[in-house]
Amino acid sequence: MPSKVKIIATIGPSSMDEEIIYSMAYEGVNGFRVNFSHGDRDLWDRIVEAVRKAEEKIGKPLALIGDLQGPSVRVGLLKEPLKLKKGKQVEIIYSRESGGDKIPVPVQKFFDVVEEGDRLLMDDGKISFVVEEVYSNRVLARALTEGVITSRKALVIKGKEVPLPAITSKDLNDIEYAIKRGFDYIALSYVKSAEDVRMLRRILYERNAREIGVIAKIETVSGVRNLNEILDETDVVLVARGDLGMHFSLEEIPWLQRTIIRKSIEKGKPVIVATQILASMVEYSTPTRAEVVDVVTAMSEGADALMLTGETAVGKYPLETVKWLRKIIEKYEDRISYPREEPGKTAGVKQRFAYSIVVLAEELGAKIAVYTKEGKTALRITRYHPRTIVYASSNNPRVLRKLSIIWGVEPVKVEAGEYSKGIEETYKVLIEKEEVGYGDLLVLTYGIREAEHTIKIVRVEKIF
Ligand code: PGA
Ligand code: MN
Repeated sequence: MPSKVKIIATIGPSSMDEEIIYSMAYEGVNGFRVNFSHGDRDLWDRIVEAVRKAEEKIGKPLALIGDLQGPSVRVGLLKEPLKLKKGKQVEIIYSRESGGDKIPVPVQKFFDVVEEGDRLLMDDGKISFVVEEVYSNRVLARALTEGVITSRKALVIKGKEVPLPAITSKDLNDIEYAIKRGFDYIALSYVKSAEDVRMLRRILYERNAREIGVIAKIETVSGVRNLNEILDETDVVLVARGDLGMHFSLEEIPWLQRTIIRKSIEKGKPVIVATQILASMVEYSTPTRAEVVDVVTAMSEGADALMLTGETAVGKYPLETVKWLRKIIEKYEDRISYPREEPGKTAGVKQRFAYSIVVLAEELGAKIAVYTKEGKTALRITRYHPRTIVYASSNNPRVLRKLSIIWGVEPVKVEAGEYSKGIEETYKVLIEKEEVGYGDLLVLTYGIREAEHTIKIVRVEKIF
C-alpha cells in the first residue's frame, strides 16, 4: 500500500551519490530538495540526473525542489573554519573575506540594523552571541556557545529583519537554472509578504514556466504575521523550523507549527514540515523517543510531507533516516483521524464536488481515482483527508511529479490527454499495476466540467 504522508530529502555531501539517491527513492522518498545556498551547477546537475535516473528505474514520479538562498545575511569567506570559545569576544567586520579570528559579513545593512544587546544566531541556533559594541562597519560580540563557524553560514539577528530584496541576483540566476533543468517546485526562502510570492510568480510567467510550483517557506516574523495573504498566493507552504527557531524563541515552535498547518489546511494548501525531523540521526543510527513522537505530532496535525534536511544532507546515516521515517509513517498514518469540515453552502461547486467524491467513496468503501490535467481536482479531494488512497492520473509528467509530495495522492502515469479516455485508461493501468484487485470498488472521475460530467463506479470483476 502506498504511503499517504510523503517524504522529502535534502541532498548534500552525504547523499550526493547516484546509488544513495536511488536507494532513498526506493525506500520511500517522494521528493528531493537541492539547496541552492550550497554547491554549484556542476553539482546540482549531477543531483538532477541522479534523481531522474532513479525515477526512471523505479517507475514512480519524484519531485525536484530547488530551494533559493533568498535574502539572508551570510558570513563571507573564511580562510579556515573559526573555532569559537564560549565567553570570548569576537569581531565581526564588513568584508567579503577574512582570516584569523575575525568574522567577515559582506552586507552593510546588517551593520545598520544590529544594536547593542541583540542576539546573533547561527547553525539552527546552536551557535549564539550577544552584541556588545556596534560601529558603522564592525561589531564586537561575545560568544554564548562554543562552535565552529564556516564560510557562507547564515547569520540571524533574533527578532529583527535586515531589509534586503526578496529575490537577489543570485536567486534570479538560480531560478533560471531551475527552469532550464526542469525542476518541479521552487522554494522561496524568508518570504515576508504575498508580494514576494507574486514576484517569483511573475518571473516564472515571464519565462514561460508557470507550471513550476511555488513553495513559500515560513521562517521569519513577517512571514508568520502575513501568513494568510501568503497562503492566498502560494501553491505549497513549508514550516521551516530551522530558521523559525532562530527568529522566534524555541518554545514558540509547537504553536507556530500547529497554526501554520491549520491555516494551510483551511485554505486548501499543502504543507511541508521541515528541519530537525530526526536530527539525532545526523550522528546516530537510531532516532530519539522525542523525535519519533514529533514525527507523529506533525502527521496528526495534518502535514502533507516531512522534509529531512541535515539528516540526509550532511548526516552519517541518510538511508537509515529515510527508513526510520517511513517506518514511523507507516505505523501511524492509518490511525490518525483528521477533523473534516464540510465545505458549506458558500463554497464553490468544485469544492463541493471534491467533498462529495470523498463521501461517496467512503460510504461505498471504494478507492478513488481521478484523472487530472493540472492536479487541482486531486488536491481538492485530498484536502478532506479521505480514508482511501487517491490515485491521480495524468499524461503530464510535471503534474505527476508535483502531486507526488501531496498527502494521500498516488500519481499514475497515463497517455490519454482527454477526460473520458483518461479515466478508462486509468482503470486499465490500475489493474495492470495490481493497485486494485478482484472485488475492489473504485470511484473514477475527473474534475467537474461545465456540461456533461462522469462519475464511474466500478467493481473489479475480471483481471485481464
Ligand atoms: P533551510 O530551510 O535549510 O534552507 O534553512 C529550512 C529551515 O529553515 O528550517
Ligand atoms: Mn531556512
